[in-house]
Amino acid sequence: DQLISQIAAGEVVERPSAVVKELLENALDAGATTINIRLEQGGVKRIAITDNGRGIAPEQLPLALARHATSKINSLNELENVATLGFRGEALASIASVSQLTLTSRTADAQHAWEICGVQGSDQKNTVAPSSGSQGTTVDVQDLYFNTPARRKFLKTEQTEFGHCAEVVRRIALSRPDVAFSLTHNGKTVDHWSVNDIAKRSAHILGSEFSGARLPLEETAGPLHLHGFIGLPTASKARGDAQYFYVNGRFVRDKLLTHAVRSAYQDVLHGDRYPSYVISLDLDPALVDVNVHPSKIEVRFRDSRAVHQFVFHAVSRALAQTSA
Ligand code: ADP
Ligand code: MG
Repeated sequence: DQLISQIAAGEVVERPSAVVKELLENALDAGATTINIRLEQGGVKRIAITDNGRGIAPEQLPLALARHATSKINSLNELENVATLGFRGEALASIASVSQLTLTSRTADAQHAWEICGVQGSDQKNTVAPSSGSQGTTVDVQDLYFNTPARRKFLKTEQTEFGHCAEVVRRIALSRPDVAFSLTHNGKTVDHWSVNDIAKRSAHILGSEFSGARLPLEETAGPLHLHGFIGLPTASKARGDAQYFYVNGRFVRDKLLTHAVRSAYQDVLHGDRYPSYVISLDLDPALVDVNVHPSKIEVRFRDSRAVHQFVFHAVSRALAQTSA
């Protein structure tokens, strides 16, 4: 049973950045407006994420660590229209099976916080104990993969793993400018973004060059709504990998969408450099399947042709305004 859960864990938590992603999504699902991320040694030694969300009641703490226990799906029907980011109910259980995990939480009406440790081994009981802290949740993940040396060996250098973690934080921070984030690594503050609008948040994250040379994007056609900022080619010198596309609030790396944006740039500006952009596509959840892969980075559209055309034309029109 323990082995099964460790194998399953590999699907969800293939490296520290995957843990960071799951914990950030949980914090956002809990309605947090401030999220602090503390990492040590690229996340392998420690990933501690504190949020000011609604918290977990003490009697719910053991459930939060149980496999397939999610508080986010009430009917099978909802699987089709998933509004929250997490809906599989296995992230915390998976992470707990390959680390030393402590979950500390306090709800608004509680006198104090409570904590629970994810204990390895089946005959030990996870007990809930009084703790301290303000409203919200801290998930403290230490010694990731201490009991799965094969997976641990697969990890890259501390700086590489940290880089992946920081990228996950940026992706999520760009999708939620209404939430404050801070990121520390080995005790040093690496990033800090206060609550802002998307214009300022994207300027902070993509750099001033992007903020100086970018076009706002805003286009609606039927059920499709596209908005964000697209960089002009001069701006893309700043960072080669600054391409962020979101579908219904989730970061995706999708061939069809990337192709639509690139084609528009090639068509209008005849350049061959990849532009920087932060683009969000919102549409009826019934028109898109985001459940194609555990990491949920790819999507499938019911009508991919229509989506491609819409994105291509919207970006083309925005770019054409500058060259006119
Ligand atoms: P899922 O997110 O798919 O429901 P998880 O294993 O990620 O599954 O989390 C299990 C449950 O623990 C969630 O459904 C939620 O009720 C609770 N939970 C986890 N993290 C938090 C958090 N930061 N704040 C409040 N509740 C949380
Ligand atoms: Mg989750």
